[in-house]
Amino acid sequence: MPTIPAPEADGEFGLIRRHFTRPGHTLPPQAVLGVGDDCALLQPTPGHQLAISCDMLVEGRHFLPDADPATLGHKTLAVNLSDLAAMGARPLGFTLALALPAVDDTWLAGFARGLFALADRHACPLIGGDTTRGPLTLCVTVFGELAPGSALRRDAARAGHDVWLSGRTGEARLALALRAGDDWALAAGLDPAQAGACHRRMDAPEPRLVLGQALAGVAHAGIDVSDGLAGDLGHILTASGVGAELQIDALPVAPALERLTATRRLECLVHGGDDYELLFCAPPEQRARIEAIATQAGTPVTRIGRITAEPGLRWLDAQGAVQTLPGRGFDHFA
Ligand code: ADP
Ligand code: MG
Repeated sequence: MPTIPAPEADGEFGLIRRHFTRPGHTLPPQAVLGVGDDCALLQPTPGHQLAISCDMLVEGRHFLPDADPATLGHKTLAVNLSDLAAMGARPLGFTLALALPAVDDTWLAGFARGLFALADRHACPLIGGDTTRGPLTLCVTVFGELAPGSALRRDAARAGHDVWLSGRTGEARLALALRAGDDWALAAGLDPAQAGACHRRMDAPEPRLVLGQALAGVAHAGIDVSDGLAGDLGHILTASGVGAELQIDALPVAPALERLTATRRLECLVHGGDDYELLFCAPPEQRARIEAIATQAGTPVTRIGRITAEPGLRWLDAQGAVQTLPGRGFDHFA
């Protein structure tokens, strides 16, 4: 689409050439044609379905203006790859739409470094994009593939399924509170190693791609936990027309969270957000297989409850009594 030319000659194309083309870098075989033409060309495995997802990060909303560019490059792609993981899909490639207030080559070089480091680890090439002037906005679309019928869909949970969680939740929420200087987070008196672990969880989430792909066709429903465990499980419950009972004591707790008051700890575990763990549902017959898959993937998983025919989410204490939990997750429009 024609636009008013940028003041600097060759601005947009020079920027793309300098930062988003990689001379001498070989594309993985599924990417038949990458950056530079009117469209990219992908060759999915014959008979497979495409899985497509798009996520946008806006300055001031999803990250702070002083965010480290390499970390931001990582996170921009990571949150999108997490959606592929949550579907059980294998990454094929991604596009990047950028709005930039100005051309800052130092910033762009850092951003591209973080972006490509993660992309290369998952053989997920950058195949195209769009670049324009505007308030800093980063938008990635990822393309993946999976065998028909194997996707971890939100509408596939059934009464009697186990509810599983990969890794553990809450550390990113604690990191956010530490940065905001919230009293309750500072009062925990974390040592630098514990605080560092929380900040890494927030800045550099690792998409659970190996686990997600291995679970495709084994687990049924699945979602990635980005807005808080309770809220994201709620999406599965609504889409599947079921309810769930979760064991409060079954939730895995990071060492940093042990130092919080019980109420704050629960709030982080249950409503944290920015966790990018996988929450999935599977029939009890698959327990041994899921444990084996998790071991092989190198990602721990924990059984935290079960799906019920009765709608709604109920939290049970160690005695099996229903407990009311604090507050709810983050909603951009709340
Ligand atoms: P068109 O006018 O056909 O949309 P553009 O001038 O926007 O093409 O982009 C030229 C080429 O550079 C295209 O192949 C496009 O996919 C790619 N591209 C543009 N911006 C980016 C970006 N931020 N990252 C990667 N590729 C990009
Ligand atoms: Mg364009």
